[in-house]
Amino acid sequence: MARYTGPVCRLCRREKMKLFLKGPKCDTMKCPIERRPYPPGEHGRDRMRQGSEYLVQLREKQKARRIYGVLEKQFANLYEEANRQQGITGENLLRMLELRLDNVVYRASWASSRSQARQLVRHGHVLVNSKRVTIPSYRVRKGDVVSLKQRSRELIVIRHNMDTLDRQLPPWLENTGGDSAGGAFEVVVRDLPQREHIDVPVREQLIVELYSK
Ligand code: SF4
Repeated sequence: MARYTGPVCRLCRREKMKLFLKGPKCDTMKCPIERRPYPPGEHGRDRMRQGSEYLVQLREKQKARRIYGVLEKQFANLYEEANRQQGITGENLLRMLELRLDNVVYRASWASSRSQARQLVRHGHVLVNSKRVTIPSYRVRKGDVVSLKQRSRELIVIRHNMDTLDRQLPPWLENTGGDSAGGAFEVVVRDLPQREHIDVPVREQLIVELYSK
């Protein structure tokens, strides 16, 4: 399954903002955006100017792709599907991205970043309705129960994340399985996420305008 394997901080610098792709490092002064808040490369500083309308739309699409770790083709397919659905296309698109299994793992604070969440899913630590699912892009549905495998609950990385991450569960997810220490090992998809509950800094209307050309 294809995924981006290059330097990720470079992606944030290209978008000129923190996309929080690296977990704990993102909140420290080691984050390159703190020291070099301009695009990478020899002419990075020259790219600080606001570009054309097309460029602004393109950057918005790239930002959304990078936040959720989705490749170009897969993103275009998602857009097509969002466009076929009823409702506002941009919101449909964000909702589908938000319902990815790796994103749910990230939202549940089992992983410090979406890429780490992706790895947990790939390595078989995550169950959906008590069945192991190893596809990070798997789309959860309303009523699905997402949980950690019993043996995986003791993994140091997961315990550390649950103890240290100060992340609120979004309203569309509900914690239904905790341990004595208050950690949630099971969440239920109570509802489909609404736009106001998706806190990614993306102007989805610009993405729709880009694909509508
Ligand atoms: Fe982005 Fe995090 Fe790297 Fe900072 S540390 S540039 S927020 S991935």
